[in-house]
Amino acid sequence: MEQAVLTSLKVAVVGGSITGCTAAIELARLGCVVTLFERSGEELKDRGAGIGVPPSVMAAYIGRGLIGADVPYFDAEHFVRRWRTAAAPEFGVLAWEQPANIALLNWGGLYQNLRARVPDGVYHTGQRVVALHQAAQGVDVALANGEVQNFDLVVCADGYASLGRRTLFPTLELNYPGYVLWRGSLPASAMVAAAPMASGVHALGYPDGHGIFYLVPGTDASTGRDQRLVNWGMYVPVPDLAAFMVDRDGRAHEGSLPPGAMPLATEAKLKSDARHRLPDFYADIVAASHDTYVYAIYDCEVPAYRAGRICLAGDAGAFARPHSGAGALKGVSDAVALRTALASHPDLETALTTWDREQTASGNQMVRFGNQLGRALVLEIPDWSAMSVAEMARWFTASVTIEAELFDAWKPAS
Ligand SMILES: Cc1cc2nc3c(=O)[nH]c(=O)nc-3n(C[C@H](O)[C@H](O)[C@H](O)COP(=O)(O)OP(=O)(O)OC[C@H]3O[C@@H](n4cnc5c(N)ncnc54)[C@H](O)[C@@H]3O)c2cc1C
Repeated sequence: MEQAVLTSLKVAVVGGSITGCTAAIELARLGCVVTLFERSGEELKDRGAGIGVPPSVMAAYIGRGLIGADVPYFDAEHFVRRWRTAAAPEFGVLAWEQPANIALLNWGGLYQNLRARVPDGVYHTGQRVVALHQAAQGVDVALANGEVQNFDLVVCADGYASLGRRTLFPTLELNYPGYVLWRGSLPASAMVAAAPMASGVHALGYPDGHGIFYLVPGTDASTGRDQRLVNWGMYVPVPDLAAFMVDRDGRAHEGSLPPGAMPLATEAKLKSDARHRLPDFYADIVAASHDTYVYAIYDCEVPAYRAGRICLAGDAGAFARPHSGAGALKGVSDAVALRTALASHPDLETALTTWDREQTASGNQMVRFGNQLGRALVLEIPDWSAMSVAEMARWFTASVTIEAELFDAWKPAS
């Protein structure tokens, strides 16, 4: 039964992306008085990127009324693992069709569905939170415009460089493992032949990493043949990250180089390297993609998900490398679990203690899972072209030991 004392809490949510929107929806439905602060001056733009979610989780989101039943996605039943060789330059050697079960959707489709369900008057754009102070009663939230507002509870859903995480754990640092994810997309209609992309997620191994290619619905949320996109990412080593993250106008960036920012010579070099790393079919997709962009890969375990009345959720908590493709899922799960904890305990302290213990364990487990995948698929990737299907299966099972538990742990209660 939902507890009346906790349902009337005054809650601030910092950040209005996937995690922040979910927290705002869930806590407002519980009866909390929610204010969401998003630093962007306008509604978040479609990032054009794809995300993968287990279909069971999609069903759970639909069942909870977080997203509509009509959210478009593609089902993927395999990781099609290939490796370029001299004898197979066009598609590479097919090393393994690894069974999988993933719904592939457009980040914008998920975000827009969640955003549409945040109640009117809750979401405030152009509001950067600059400081959080635990007060005698609740938390004081300081905004860039000089205002300070007091809340019973603050949920920091402010992403991987979270102010909330830095406030709670000032000495905690993100770990950079030495590689970045270079991303792009291409309308499937621009490809000479898109049919080979129809079967699952294509994973292309090469000596210092791998590439991922898959279809996602178009930015207008359509799965139509002419609207769909091939979304791709390649993990590539970058030893000197600071030098690499300087844009074409000489400005230094942290975390990502957005579309249109990368120096043209860098993009040209990455495309030329892709010719050697990838089979021709995939290198052609990369070559034809414009305004490609880069995310630095980081990871970070956290000692806790809350201190006092400040909570961390989504990428603001434990931050995993993106190999598991479970970042959005984890953000939604953190928010759903917070509502469940508030609804099922009579006092705030017990609710937050329980939630903190569970999210810290599962969040840090996801980081370790991402690190295992990073080691297996980037830092120590073996030559798949020389391996039999049985050897591939043995290698994966030996390298990645916590996958099965992971998705169960992320499945939100419906
Ligand atoms: C390279 C890469 C690849 C990924 N691939 C996948 C994938 O395949 N599948 C998947 O599920 N996930 C993927 N993710 C993760 C996914 O993008 C995130 O996990 C997901 O968007 C949830 O993030 P979030 O809402 O916690 O944080 P974010 O999406 O980062 O949002 C944080 C929000 O907080 C706002 N904000 C920040 N600071 C402040 C402040 N001080 N005041 C107010 N607002 C603030 C920001 O403007 C932003 O809107 C990937 C992430 C990366 C980096």
